[in-house]
Amino acid sequence: MTTNTLFDALLAPHRARKTPFLHLSEPGSPAEVSFEDFLAQAARLAHVLVASGVTPGDRVLVQAPKRSEMLALYAAAIQAGAVFLPLNTAYRLDEVSYFIADAAPKLVVCTSDMADALRPLAEAEGGTVLTLNADGSGTLAERMQGQPDSFDTVPRGPDDLAALLYTSGTTGRSKGAMLTHDNLLSNTRALVDLWRITSDDRLIHALPIFHTHGLFVAMNTFLLAGGQVRFLNGFDLDAILDAMPESTVLMGVPTFYTRLLGDARLTAERAANMRLFISGSAPLLAETHTAFSARTGHQILERYGMTETNMTTSNPYEGARKPGTVGHPLPGVEIRLTDPESGAPVPQGSVGMVEVRGPNVFKGYWQMPEKTAEEMREDGFFITGDLGQLDAEGYLSIVGRQKDLIITGGLNVYPKEIEDVLNAVPGVAESAVYGVPDPDFGERIIADVVPRPDAQVTEDALQAAAATLARFKHPKVYRIVEALPRNTMGKVQKNVLRTSYKG
Ligand code: AMP
Repeated sequence: MTTNTLFDALLAPHRARKTPFLHLSEPGSPAEVSFEDFLAQAARLAHVLVASGVTPGDRVLVQAPKRSEMLALYAAAIQAGAVFLPLNTAYRLDEVSYFIADAAPKLVVCTSDMADALRPLAEAEGGTVLTLNADGSGTLAERMQGQPDSFDTVPRGPDDLAALLYTSGTTGRSKGAMLTHDNLLSNTRALVDLWRITSDDRLIHALPIFHTHGLFVAMNTFLLAGGQVRFLNGFDLDAILDAMPESTVLMGVPTFYTRLLGDARLTAERAANMRLFISGSAPLLAETHTAFSARTGHQILERYGMTETNMTTSNPYEGARKPGTVGHPLPGVEIRLTDPESGAPVPQGSVGMVEVRGPNVFKGYWQMPEKTAEEMREDGFFITGDLGQLDAEGYLSIVGRQKDLIITGGLNVYPKEIEDVLNAVPGVAESAVYGVPDPDFGERIIADVVPRPDAQVTEDALQAAAATLARFKHPKVYRIVEALPRNTMGKVQKNVLRTSYKG
């Protein structure tokens, strides 16, 4: 019997289960998909992958709307021994081009409006293009017709790659985090255990599935446990509130919870059937935690992780869920706090760089051994770039980020990428992009721009340049300034800019 680490654990056991798995509200799909139907759909897609030339280890790049087919494509890629590479749907042509050139996928699945532009790029890397649109139409659906409902699973071991997830690099260049079958499975097992997820659970799924949170934390846990999933197209407040009385778990970014609190329909009664509200991807304000428990009686369970490490810490299921903390390391995961300069452990209670070691930690950045080496200690600890502090009871708090990163609405934005775009605008000498606190999005993006002497720079020109980037990366405010504050090492002092913005 062949083995495929992830497929055997997450998917194969459901082959003959006729009970519902996905509850859908997408055009062109039935309202309910059973486990058996989902596995059959994945098998048909696995045949499409093979017919498209995908062989074990090949990348399958998917930039497509959140639909059940995209989820089935993930399952198909695993079954066919391929490497699943989902992309943020907000990425524009320039951004997607980079990922195609870097990952050389054998198959690109995108929407019809992108297909003509992406085809030559994919072909240049030896790949082909299929389409999947928001209404389910496209060549992917056409190719699935008539394919067999079962597929001979390709053997894959624990150390084989299952997914490549790009994280934006601080230098502006995105890095592909290589995640193995065991990275994903070990983390899934730890979370199912810790959060007590069973086949009785019903998840409200309102996250994107191109990110570690919505794809691995949410879907892998529910696949392993065999729970049901209400699959929403995106964050839809009405749909979430409607689903709550018949659901048991919600996984969200902090913005979900502030939005829910802003709606009077969120009550203890409506949340009475819910068992667990989980938050992650960005810091949850202690006041949100407190307000949520006052309103609903539920203590939000906050956890911490990142693309490269999967989930690292979680507040306990039983025991105190401390607001403002991300809890303890998951079983099997070690964390330590170190001096960012020397790498030496900091004294108990001091702020230090969060370093992580365990089966959850990725295998390195795709074709970037030097970057991998920079962020990996010799003893196997990964340097996260997050600054943390441990209290006397071992609860971790994330107190800041050493790396320059803005998180807005749960999405990561690296200022360098936006600065590069703004600096290319005629008349611009330099720019600094930074985040300021925002009650709804967590952080809001501000751009301070210094014109060249005697040059005129208009906000329109800056906005037009930023429009080449995904919308969530667009600065909300532009300020034309004479100079940027710098420290003695010549580094722009973004903390000074933040203070001046507040003033
Ligand atoms: P990503 O790779 O997109 O998942 O982003 C990972 C980063 O999000 C981490 O390195 C942290 O900076 C941040 N993050 C994730 N969860 C939390 C949390 N619960 N509290 C604070 N920051 C978080």
